[in-house]
Amino acid sequence: MTDASEVAQRFGALRERLIRVGGDRVRVVAVTKGFGLEAVVAAMGAGLVDMGENYAQELLAKAGHVGEELEAELRPCWHFIGRLQRNKIRKIAHLVDLWQSVDRPEAAVEIARWAPGARVLVQVDITDIGGRGGCPPEGTAQLVAGCRQAGLEVAGLMAVGEPGPPERSRPGFRLLAAQAADLGLPELSMGMSADIEVAVEEGATMVRVGTALFGPRPR
Ligand SMILES: *Cc1c(COP(=O)(O)O)cnc(C)c1O
Repeated sequence: MTDASEVAQRFGALRERLIRVGGDRVRVVAVTKGFGLEAVVAAMGAGLVDMGENYAQELLAKAGHVGEELEAELRPCWHFIGRLQRNKIRKIAHLVDLWQSVDRPEAAVEIARWAPGARVLVQVDITDIGGRGGCPPEGTAQLVAGCRQAGLEVAGLMAVGEPGPPERSRPGFRLLAAQAADLGLPELSMGMSADIEVAVEEGATMVRVGTALFGPRPR
């Protein structure tokens, strides 16, 4: 179970961390993967409006019930941040407000097919190890162009940092910020529970936070 007052308290602490590095205007996306609907309700109760989901099934389940728990005007803003599977895009297209994990042209085309003109971020793999999702940095400009060609609105770039000590993510975050600046893209979604400070210092406009808000994930 997710305790609502605990989530509110953790959100307060998270805000202090952000403020300390000048990130008081950074948008916090609450990542509720692995947690149930009560995590969404607790986060909304604490004043968070942006929810991040990694799995289509979980998004469908939570979005289907959240209306019963909240007043209609309090509907969260759903961010899809997981791997995009072609056959799942259609099922969630009517729900997603921002697609953060567009990593290849085929995904862009499929999103545009079911949600014409949707807002997206292009995910870039900035890690040395690779395999954390996203297109290689050499392919960013081309993928941004591909998304636009499909009729999508590219708002910015997204990346997952390096595992391990937060400082390890800095060069990658810096690269992502440089690419966004070159391409004239305003949004930078980078930084998770462990490395929000480094991400904000490097220009994040959005951080995606799970465990720092909800505690350890149950599975
Ligand atoms: C799980 C996840 C997060 C949140 O990670 P925490 O370490 O729990 O804050 C952020 N972004 C993506 C893409 C994720 O999969």
